[in-house]
Amino acid sequence: MTVSSYNPYENAQAQFDRVARIIGLDQATCALLRQPMREFHFTIPVHMDDGSTKIFNGYRIQHNDARGPAKGGIRFHPHETADTVRALSMWMTWKCSVVDIPLGGGKGGIVCDPRNMTENEQERLCRGWIRQLAKVVGPVIDVPAPDVMSNSKHMLWMLDEFETIHGGRYPGFITGKPVGMGGSLGRTEATGYGVIYTVREALKDLGLKLEETTASFQGFGNVAQYAAVLFQRLGGKVISVCCWDNNDKKAYTYRKLDGLNAEALLTIVDSFGTINKEKALEMGCEILPQGAWIEQDVDILIPAALENQITLDNVNKISKQVKLIAEGANGPINTDADEVIRERGVFLVPDFLCNAGGVTCSYFEQVQSNNNYYWEKDEVLQKLDQKMTSAYRATKETADKNKLYMRDAAYVIAINRVAQAVKMRGWV
Ligand code: GLU
Repeated sequence: MTVSSYNPYENAQAQFDRVARIIGLDQATCALLRQPMREFHFTIPVHMDDGSTKIFNGYRIQHNDARGPAKGGIRFHPHETADTVRALSMWMTWKCSVVDIPLGGGKGGIVCDPRNMTENEQERLCRGWIRQLAKVVGPVIDVPAPDVMSNSKHMLWMLDEFETIHGGRYPGFITGKPVGMGGSLGRTEATGYGVIYTVREALKDLGLKLEETTASFQGFGNVAQYAAVLFQRLGGKVISVCCWDNNDKKAYTYRKLDGLNAEALLTIVDSFGTINKEKALEMGCEILPQGAWIEQDVDILIPAALENQITLDNVNKISKQVKLIAEGANGPINTDADEVIRERGVFLVPDFLCNAGGVTCSYFEQVQSNNNYYWEKDEVLQKLDQKMTSAYRATKETADKNKLYMRDAAYVIAINRVAQAVKMRGWV
């Protein structure tokens, strides 16, 4: 499958159909769950700093809200498509379900490249997105959050616009807010830490000691940054990270065979995950081509960038030493490559389980915001670890009991819970 023909929505539906067959899901529930319930597609006119007006395309897609308000991030990406947002909204439903939090699935997107926009332009874009959606989202309807290239600053502008329109304070409307402005301690670290909580558990099952393992990461945005930091703190060695360079408009793999210092890398990365190349060289990193991250002789691969990164073109470049793949990103492995990985017997922690730490902490943030009472960081992280570990354990148990691939096992749990919710509500 070539990159251009890849469609994440078809991938998400194929994954769903496969498991719907395994569990014998009835036709009506299948038809309901294999597509989103509601979609909003709209334009956002933005006055640019040079005096021109640019029209951006925006989306919000609510896949399912049977278990609670729709929940999910908003992505800023130049190649955003409706089908990508559809797939991601679907994965959000399964994500909230597998960790058993009372939320549904949604996703938003804007076709844009914030790396090439000023702060003022970004603010107007965020406010414009909310103006188009203010009546169909909200704390009890649909709760957005950050995602690819969006951050806490964007969330606060969005909250401010929402509150201005509705005339009140609604901190539970959006998550991933800055700490002190309704944000939760630990939210910044949550997705990356959650990835490593599941890696820690998977390594136990594989009979490996984390402190004797090595890992290679794709991406160095929010997820990979904190995953790398925690992995290293727990004694693992980060051999390489691959990330986009906005100056050169291409990605590089940064490698140090005796281990990169993840915390030091955090000091030379910008808010969109671009590592300063000159400073990386000073730190003793080798700079390799983009694709090198997947070829490293490491124990663990952590794709934590975007969807469709492991395909038939590069899946066979994965070293024989790799025992575990933890999907930090949503949908990083396409359907064909997934088949190869499954056959090779590499252990997989699937995306909507692996990276559920972000939305789990968003749920904690929502609870804190709605109660106007904020927890200590230790309490947040301890609750997060508990949720992630028990979701991982339940998935592993289902996989062992039914001899299923971990992705299918996570789907069995997630789909069953949502199917039960739509039935109990009398929708099908
Ligand atoms: N964007 C993150 C995800 O894909 C977090 C979503 C949220 O916190 O609602 O899981």
